[in-house]
Order: sequence, then structure tokens, then C-alpha cells
Amino acid sequence: MKDIRRVEHDDILAFLEKNGEKGFRAKQIDEWLWKKGCFCFEEMSNLPTTLRELLKQSYEFAHLETDTVEQSADGTLKFLFRLPDNAKIEGVLIPTPKRVTACVSSQAGCPLKCAFCATGQMGFIRNLHFTEIFDQFLIMNRVAEENFGKRITNIVYMGMGEPLLNYENVMKSIGLLTSPSAQAMSPQRITLSTVGVVNGIQRLADEGFPCGIAISLHCADERKRLELIPSTKTFPLPEIREALAYFHKKTGERISIEYLLLDGITDTRADAEKLWEFCKPFPAKINLIEYNDNNLQFRKSPEKRVKDFVAYLESRNMIVTVRHSRGKEIAAACGQLLVNQSNKSKK
Ligand code: SF4
Repeated sequence: MKDIRRVEHDDILAFLEKNGEKGFRAKQIDEWLWKKGCFCFEEMSNLPTTLRELLKQSYEFAHLETDTVEQSADGTLKFLFRLPDNAKIEGVLIPTPKRVTACVSSQAGCPLKCAFCATGQMGFIRNLHFTEIFDQFLIMNRVAEENFGKRITNIVYMGMGEPLLNYENVMKSIGLLTSPSAQAMSPQRITLSTVGVVNGIQRLADEGFPCGIAISLHCADERKRLELIPSTKTFPLPEIREALAYFHKKTGERISIEYLLLDGITDTRADAEKLWEFCKPFPAKINLIEYNDNNLQFRKSPEKRVKDFVAYLESRNMIVTVRHSRGKEIAAACGQLLVNQSNKSKK
């Protein structure tokens, strides 16, 4: 049976007509699927029981299953979701006094193999369908309402996978999140994070992407970045820089730079200088990220070096924030929960 969320609107109309139902029911069904985010046909309370039964006999809901949820002392919730083909992905819900941010995955696994990333070590399984990205939002949104008494306020495409390598599905999911006839979120509250897929950034710029973008730079030294992020070979730093300048020129948006501070690797004074040089062609906001120690070979920077790094950038009039890693004891960095779980089962 086909997942009803994967059936074209025209095919639903044809289905209704064939079964002697009125066309306006298609709009009601759409509302249940994308605006109210229902999980089963029984929830479609304004449809006649007979129509709900007909739909049930012809279609299904292939929703994600929640495999595991772990909560850390700071309230961060980490979800491990199972896809219909049994592949697993992660989502994270991060509550703060003013916001509830959801971090969603765009791929199962990831082909880019960044050295510091647990997902990168798993390899690539497949792209997520847009309904599977949307599902992560729906499931976490229900949990946010139950646990924190409010809906998700912000979404970051920063979970497993490189969103610009799954461009069409990511854009369709953003379309559902922002459309007034679906979730009607402000595009300003959505951020797509990329490791630097140059043609994807150019395409976003050309299409007038309404949301924010963040670049997972992590190092502005080409040689060192190549070791950390192998895709730098395909997308060298000068090309990424040019694409970001183009994006800013087309959209007027400031670029967020995600920068992981790794002890002795990306946190020296020379690294800070290179970062400043890299950001010269566009207005940038630097998010320095404390590394979430896992069982890979990296360590987080000592506090003193973080302070010096910040001081240098601020002396260059850059906007800098330091993000302390949340959900440490539940391994909330991308891919860690899944990698930890499979390590446990191997043992
Ligand atoms: S950091 Fe992002 S792009 Fe790199 S391997 Fe991990 S998921 Fe993929």
C-alpha cells in the first residue's frame, strides 16, 4: 500500500471522484496531512466514516517509528527514529527558555565522511524522502507540546547528512514547514547547514532561498580542512567563499559560520586569523562550537584557548557566540547515539 503522503493531489481527487465523493474532501485531507499533521485516518474527524474506511483500505501512513528517546540533564531530547526500511536516523529537540529548536536529519548516514563526525563514520545509506524529514518535525513537535508546553519554534537542518546532497526533498520539506496551508513557520526560523556544497549554495542563491544558511566551516586552512572534511577536495575553500559571497549578494542575508574548536587543530591564533580572512567578503556571524567529546580522536579546546580565539575575532569586529555542547551524556552530536547503540549491540 502506498503512503498517502506520497500520493499526488490530483490522484487523491481522482480517487474521490471514482468513489463518488466530493472534490472539496481533497482539501480537507491535505489539511489533515500537512497542517494538522495527523498520524492516522481515524484522526480525520471531519471526514465521513465511510470515506475514512475507504482511504484506509487503499493507503497507509508510513510514519517513522520512534526507536529510542534519551533526555539529558539540560533537557535536550535525542530521538532515534526507525524508517520503514529499518534504516535509522536521529533528531534532537533542544529547549531553552525562549525557544524549542528541532534539529532534523536529511539523509540516513552521510557520504561525506567528516573526520570529527560520528555519522560520517557510518557511511551513506540513502536520502530521506521529504515526508520522512517532515515526520521528524511532526513527532518532535508533539513531544515538545507535551514536555515543554510549546511548539517547535526553530528548525535546523543539522542532523545526519548533508542537506544540499538531497536538495529536492529538503526543499519540499521546507516548503511544507513554511507554507501558510501547512505549518506556516517563518522562513527566518529555519536554518539549513551545509559543509559547503558549492553548486547547492549557488542554486539556493538563484532560487532566492528565504531561510538562513549556516556553513559548517570548522577550519579555514585548506590543508587542515581537507583532513577534517574530505569534501574540501571537491569544493575548495575559495570556491565556497565565492559561493557564500554570491548568496549574500543575491539574498542580502548574513552568513552563519559554524566552527568547531578542536584542541590544537582548529583553535590556534593562526586559525583565528584565517577564519577572519575567510569571512571578509560577506557579513558573518561566527558560532564557535565546543566539541562534544566522543570516542573519535579529537578533544575539545581548553577554556583559555577558546577565550583567546573569541578575543581575536572580536578585536576584528566580528559577531561571535560560543555554543557549549548540550546533551553531552546522551551523545547529542550528530550520529553519536546511533553509533553508540550499534557499538553496544556489537559488544
Ligand atoms: S558533519 Fe555533516 S556532512 Fe560531515 S559527515 Fe557528518 S553529517 Fe556528513
